[in-house]
Amino acid sequence: MDEFVFVSGRLCLDLVGTKLWRRSLRTELLTSPEAMRRWVRQAELLDDPGPLDVRAFERLRRLREVVYTVVTSWPPGDHPDVNVDAVLAEVNEAARLPLPKHQLDVSGRLTRTGGVDEVLGAVARDAVDLLSSAHFARMRECANPDCTRLFVDLSHSGARRWCGMAECGNKNKAASYRRRKKQATIEAGV
Ligand SMILES: [Zn+2]
Repeated sequence: MDEFVFVSGRLCLDLVGTKLWRRSLRTELLTSPEAMRRWVRQAELLDDPGPLDVRAFERLRRLREVVYTVVTSWPPGDHPDVNVDAVLAEVNEAARLPLPKHQLDVSGRLTRTGGVDEVLGAVARDAVDLLSSAHFARMRECANPDCTRLFVDLSHSGARRWCGMAECGNKNKAASYRRRKKQATIEAGV
């Protein structure tokens, strides 16, 4: 099973989705620099990010959280409780970093090279592109109330409701309902 999923339609939102169930269980998938390496490769950002230290890892997790804050507080006028200027400044600073270098050889093989700066640059650039594009109006949170995964609905109908993970969506709606009902019963002490 793949460790990370890429169902958001945007790189920056796939990174945001490496922290799950943000309002309840708050489950962290980016648990170490090695996990960051795997995410970078699975995201097809770089062929090999090389050794990543704790500082690189913390920079990526910090960027993930500021991106989450900005995209869920946009446009700023609608969220007076959040200092959007400050977090947006962080995203913009990262968006000035270099991007991964893509090179094609004669056999048709693409190589992607760079390091942590290029990873952060690519994520932040995707975030500023998203916020300034028509795609942003199509950004949704998964309809599973426990799931906080964000995605851009690129369906023709514009009616996508679920992130697409196994625990979400119609197929498992009944199971999820039963689970919640059982939990509610336990909490009520009956
Ligand atoms: Zn979901």
